Amino acid sequence: MTSKDGGQPRPSCSDDFDPTTLRAEDAARRIEALVSPVTEYERVAVRSALDRTLAKDVYSTVNVPAHTNSAMDGYALRSADLPADGSRATLKVIGTAWAGRPYHGSAKGKQCVRIMTGAKMPDGLDTVIMQEQVECVDDTILIGSGHKPGQNVRQAGEDLAVGAVAVSAGTRIDPAELGLFASLGVAEVEVARRLRVAFFSTGDELRSIGEPLAEGEIYDSNRYTLHGMLTRLGVELLDMGVIADQREAIGDAFRRAASMADVIITTGGVSVGEADYVKEILAETGTVDFWKLAIKPGRPLAFGTVRDAFFFGLPGNPVAVMVTFYEFVQPALRRMMGQQGLRPARFRVPCRSRLKKRPGRMEFQRGLLQVADNGSLSVSRTGAQGSGMLSSMSSANCFIILPTDSGSVEPGDMVDVEPFEGLV
Ligand code: AMP
Ligand code: MG
Repeated sequence: MTSKDGGQPRPSCSDDFDPTTLRAEDAARRIEALVSPVTEYERVAVRSALDRTLAKDVYSTVNVPAHTNSAMDGYALRSADLPADGSRATLKVIGTAWAGRPYHGSAKGKQCVRIMTGAKMPDGLDTVIMQEQVECVDDTILIGSGHKPGQNVRQAGEDLAVGAVAVSAGTRIDPAELGLFASLGVAEVEVARRLRVAFFSTGDELRSIGEPLAEGEIYDSNRYTLHGMLTRLGVELLDMGVIADQREAIGDAFRRAASMADVIITTGGVSVGEADYVKEILAETGTVDFWKLAIKPGRPLAFGTVRDAFFFGLPGNPVAVMVTFYEFVQPALRRMMGQQGLRPARFRVPCRSRLKKRPGRMEFQRGLLQVADNGSLSVSRTGAQGSGMLSSMSSANCFIILPTDSGSVEPGDMVDVEPFEGLV
């Protein structure tokens, strides 16, 4: 694609280069610069905090673990009684410490205490020997050398020390955080309020499931994929149905959506040559840019504001909807929800398929990431890649991302992949 005369790239019909398009990275950056986290938060019980965003740091008010305790079933002793290299020692067993039932006596030299996992270390003892590594003779144990002072003991506060930040604001709360809150005795936490997201499909050809289809009509699938993706994100959904390509109806839908929601998402009606009601109406009520993105699928994308709400106008094609949602909408919603770590996880694996591609656009092909018997990962393409073919998404678990300037991929080449649901 380089011309002989000036060495400048020149658009031609043999590639996808279009100088008026916006690169995916630039679109993502512009969106990120405009949206900001919601500031309202609410207090919820720990269990209800799952999948929400922590709004305030949670500090540890206690040591976790609270007491120095044994990490093994065995015998607690003082390290000074460990035998020197090559020798053995005999210790007297003077009692037992159970988890939740400490041993209250005090051990003197050459004495030890039978101890269970999780039991508080008796005063003066600092080392635990696993029960499999001792020989019991009546009420004594025989131990060999090679043990380390302090081994098999969990120190008070080694997981979390008093006053340390246990979970920081911006964390998406996973099962591990629920357990962590519980281990601190925290019953309620402050989480960002739920985002309200209104969405509707535009298109005269669209019918909702349950209705009969006339000639040329199709079922609206975009509201269902959006329902799924938004539900997984944990936002409050306002499904406004299918809106016909009519000026009045679309104008009314935007006004209603903007009065209820933080974010409005529409699908369809942003391609070149559409009945341009979306553009017309937004010119009156909002500030919206219509972008041609240098990506495939998903070229048209609108982004801006309608009154106080942010607006994403996604393409109509069902695969393009999912691509643009995962790449642009989801990171923006996460940022508005106050979360950190917004970009989807991307990593490189060998590709097993041949992928046809021309330079000029970043492509999001659908792939199946698989683990071989030997544990190695690879990806293969899932069938036909048309932007309307949801079956290619359904049988896939990741995008194969081919950079803007790259060409075709041969089997064995390394490619970037992005699992749809990130690394969970
Ligand atoms: P548009 O961007 O409105 O020109 O739509 C592009 C393509 O996507 C057309 O083939 C539409 O019929 C199709 N399409 C638009 N919206 C939907 C939808 N909600 N569900 C399924 N297909 C759609
Ligand atoms: Mg349409």
